[in-house]
Amino acid sequence: MAGLFSRSARARDDEDIAPENAPLCPIAASDVARRVELLDSFEAAGLGWFWATDAQGRLIYLSETAAEKLGWTDGEAIGKPLGELFTPEKDEDPDKAERPLAFLLSARNSISQLNVRLAVEGQEVWWEIAGKPQFDEKERFTGYRGSAKDITVSRESQKDAERLAQYDSLTGLANRHRMTKRLTATLKAYRNSKRACALLMLDLDRFKQVNDTLGHPAGDELLKQVAARLGRIVGTKGEIGRLGGDEFQVMLPDIDDRGALGDLSQRLIQMISQPYSINGARAIIGTSVGIAIAPYDGLDTEELVKAADLALYAAKGGGRGQYRFYSSDLKDGAKHRRQVEEDLRDALENNQLSMHYQPLVCAKTHTVKCCEALMRWEHPERGTISPAVFIPVAEEIGIIKKMGEWALNEVCRQAMEWPVELRVAVNVSAVQFAHDDFPQVVKNALTNSGLSPERLELEITESVFLGDTGRAQRIFKELKDLNIRLALDDFGTGYSSLSYLRTAPFDKIKIDQSFVRGATEDGNNNAAILSAIVSLAGALNMETVAEGVEAKDELDLVTQRGATLIQGYIFSRPMPNEDFLERLADGKLKYDPKGPAKYRADRKTVFRRIGLIHEDSRYKVVMRNLSKTGAMIEGLLDVPLGTQVVLDLGGGQLAVATVRRSKGATQGVEFEQPLISDGADGLCTRHRVSPYQIEAAGRPLAALPHDPYSLIMAERMGAASQKKFVEIEVGSPAPGTSY
Ligand code: C2E
Ligand code: CA
Ligand code: CA
Repeated sequence: MAGLFSRSARARDDEDIAPENAPLCPIAASDVARRVELLDSFEAAGLGWFWATDAQGRLIYLSETAAEKLGWTDGEAIGKPLGELFTPEKDEDPDKAERPLAFLLSARNSISQLNVRLAVEGQEVWWEIAGKPQFDEKERFTGYRGSAKDITVSRESQKDAERLAQYDSLTGLANRHRMTKRLTATLKAYRNSKRACALLMLDLDRFKQVNDTLGHPAGDELLKQVAARLGRIVGTKGEIGRLGGDEFQVMLPDIDDRGALGDLSQRLIQMISQPYSINGARAIIGTSVGIAIAPYDGLDTEELVKAADLALYAAKGGGRGQYRFYSSDLKDGAKHRRQVEEDLRDALENNQLSMHYQPLVCAKTHTVKCCEALMRWEHPERGTISPAVFIPVAEEIGIIKKMGEWALNEVCRQAMEWPVELRVAVNVSAVQFAHDDFPQVVKNALTNSGLSPERLELEITESVFLGDTGRAQRIFKELKDLNIRLALDDFGTGYSSLSYLRTAPFDKIKIDQSFVRGATEDGNNNAAILSAIVSLAGALNMETVAEGVEAKDELDLVTQRGATLIQGYIFSRPMPNEDFLERLADGKLKYDPKGPAKYRADRKTVFRRIGLIHEDSRYKVVMRNLSKTGAMIEGLLDVPLGTQVVLDLGGGQLAVATVRRSKGATQGVEFEQPLISDGADGLCTRHRVSPYQIEAAGRPLAALPHDPYSLIMAERMGAASQKKFVEIEVGSPAPGTSY
């Protein structure tokens, strides 16, 4: 409308030709005045500006509007060196670091799309500049001609976008993209300065359950709280990222002490495992941690992340709530676990599962009162696989429900065949418990077998309280209505809360092995905790079981502290149904304690071929047992007491040791520095031979191979050097080395 109106308004004024009716009048290249006018309007509009310098780099021209905008009037800018207009500003992003302007100018290079910050006080103004060097007909440099435009606003919004692209919006932690970039930059820089960098990979255990039972908003809230706890522990020691879902990563520059990393991981696991309060609901999760250290376990990001991932995988496979260091054997472990996953799906159909039984004896009379059913998997190639390994896998791949149902039926059926009416306890996974039809499954097992409900006991861990507590209460009630008994298993691990005991109708508390273990040592307060649990259970009319009693001193202690029942190797290991039945049939209801006087917590029977270095010679020996403080080795004849040796435990782990006992071909050695836990059952050294040392010996830098020591020492050692001790061949593994 406006256009129509203006045209008719102008049409009345016939002196003037409306511009749209004017004839074409191009700006000729020679029409300097009109060309200047064109450029003027371009400059005035702020679309872009022009600048020029002389051969010495001094400004001889700057668009007036640009100068005005910067508060320079009356040619103030003229004569200044171009470089002085801008402040050298480091871009936070190392990848984007551009060649500085001064460099470009002095090299007389073209400038294109260079972002520069103007040297004006009190405000942040950014330009994008371009320019070309000019030369006269004799090829002499005469200065620059260039253009500029203000990009302050678009730069701001780009920065915002970048920030969003680098950080996880839920937790505020770095995202995967940023972590990868930071790790890559760090590893690259550290390679030159020969520094180490550790990488922790974390994955939350049971997060999915919280998400499913409490809903996604609760899951999000939980992740935020996890991030906050991680932040409190890691502090300024490293950078934390959330890679997505419930996966976190921690980068810790300049740490390669595995003792320190193990302690830190343990603290992370403990903190994450404390209960969370989410909109009034209580949630409990755990975490597993995989640890890899550059350059030992990997040089670049890909290698290191892969190593940490494998370690995490192993930690999860080891029963969760654990940390694990990367070692080259884990590659086999991962293969193993995948095979376990595959084979487990068919284990039930292939009749590879069976139930074993372990007696629980009366603390006073040592007669069997009940027994616990423990599942066994007889793998055709790998032999017996522990339920601590395959139950978590079964939970993960969703077959625990089927397996648990089978176990209940099998146990009820077998218990009916026993000549003595013993109670029998069946372990129930929290995943099984979470299914609404669980009470019906129990009822069916009772009906199918005809077992009297008072004889059946279910062992449940605290993790069933996770999420909807009202639901848990309902299931408890349905189970109690069946007249069966309930036991709280593994009490004292992780996140024990006495409130469970108040609200849930347990008949029995099973005190976790970890409280029995070490309770007899001086300065250990496990004994006091044992007493407290026993008296609390007594007040609530519950029985107590001391689990995992192996040694005489432990038996004395738990008996004296008042546990009602005792379960452990000291009386019997779990046994197949036939053996258990036979014993019952023979009327052998009393068990005699058989075991060591004291529990040797730290001594493990092993059979491992290792290297021993003495002076310039390397020997092959067998390690028979290993503890934090020492080892027993076999394979060298008559080594004098006090001899200093170095044990090469593989993977670059060297332990300096002194011979303390020596008899024939067997020596007991004491380590100069105690070993540390590898997070699982094993021990490892704090430090390893550094790949940088191997590099210094003339090899290319690489992550540690299986036997790195031989690489450095290959030249020094060999047949040429005179061996001081006589080596003898050591035979097969000692009996009793079990899976
Ligand atoms: P748990 O319920 O704590 O079972 C006790 C574990 O301690 C058993 O390990 C048992 O063999 C072991 N044990 C008993 N006495 C001693 C002792 O004196 N010293 C030591 N060091 N250990 C002792 P097992 O049979 O390997 O089972 C491991 C875990 O697997 C069980 O821990 C339980 O959580 C789970 N599990 C076993 N069977 C089943 C099952 O049928 N269903 C489910 N859901 N879980 C099961
Ligand atoms: Ca149990
Ligand atoms: Ca237990």
